[in-house]
Amino acid sequence: MCSRDSNGWLQDYEGIDVLYQKTLSKSVKLEGIGLHSGQMVRVELHPAPADSGVYFVVDGHVIKAACASVFDTTYATSLMGNGRVVRTVEHLLAALAGLGVDNVRIEVSGSEVPILDGSAWPFVKAMKDAGLNLQRSPRKYLKILKPVTVLEGDKSASLLPSPEPRITYRIDFAHPLLSDQHFSLGLEQESFEHELCQARTFGFLRDVEMLQKAGLAQGGSLDNAVVMDDERILNEEGLRYPDEFVRHKMMDAVGDLSLLGLPFIGHLVADKSGHKLNHRLVREVLSRPDSWILVEGGIAVGDAALGLGMATVGAAGE
Ligand SMILES: [Zn+2]
Repeated sequence: MCSRDSNGWLQDYEGIDVLYQKTLSKSVKLEGIGLHSGQMVRVELHPAPADSGVYFVVDGHVIKAACASVFDTTYATSLMGNGRVVRTVEHLLAALAGLGVDNVRIEVSGSEVPILDGSAWPFVKAMKDAGLNLQRSPRKYLKILKPVTVLEGDKSASLLPSPEPRITYRIDFAHPLLSDQHFSLGLEQESFEHELCQARTFGFLRDVEMLQKAGLAQGGSLDNAVVMDDERILNEEGLRYPDEFVRHKMMDAVGDLSLLGLPFIGHLVADKSGHKLNHRLVREVLSRPDSWILVEGGIAVGDAALGLGMATVGAAGE
């Protein structure tokens, strides 16, 4: 017997949810300043058919949220397709991945996703208020079978086999508030909502002038970022989590890794990683189809029982 819970999952029997694809129940509009462009920009999120994935539409041209669309990872993740560009997609992509939204059409007015409060929370809230709709196609996952690691100097990012999605992240900036901060989290909708999605982007006052000369951070302010001078936080309201910085980097990674094209079942272990290294990891994983398989079907919620009842449907790229 099936019943539908408030998130739109189908519960087949007690404790077991069969995971199907999800889209929005209705369209959602968000508007605000673009962090890097400083322009007012708007995104409209629309329901999309099963298996259509996440895609942006700019001036009528489609840009797929996919690894192949990434063209810039300097201070943000930017995508290009059909001659059009959309910048700063990572927090919106994180919100979609965190809520398990598989299919959505994102109409963009301007060339950047609004930064809003600097976190994924406004996107999460808007989508939850609109409601999510279950679709009659099972979700597919990319399940990691062999470790894949990318390195850049003293930075690293790895995807390791794991029975459940997990992220372990460490940052170590040369700043008294940001040295050796680390956090590890099993990645589920609830943990994403409670532990990651409100963490804001951050920056240093000393970098602002340099960024703005480079044409970046034109829309940056204390309304959409945690800003620090050499010793302290300038935002009067302080932090949302004591370790908000590492949590923000984890949230960014959720967005960046969604460019694998499917949710992953594996353990992301990142040391001082950022958009650029995250993207290199995505490319490396996709270029090594022996390191993962596609799975689809039922998933047990809780007790780390992911993989239960799943059918292997073969590796992409074979
Ligand atoms: Zn970010």
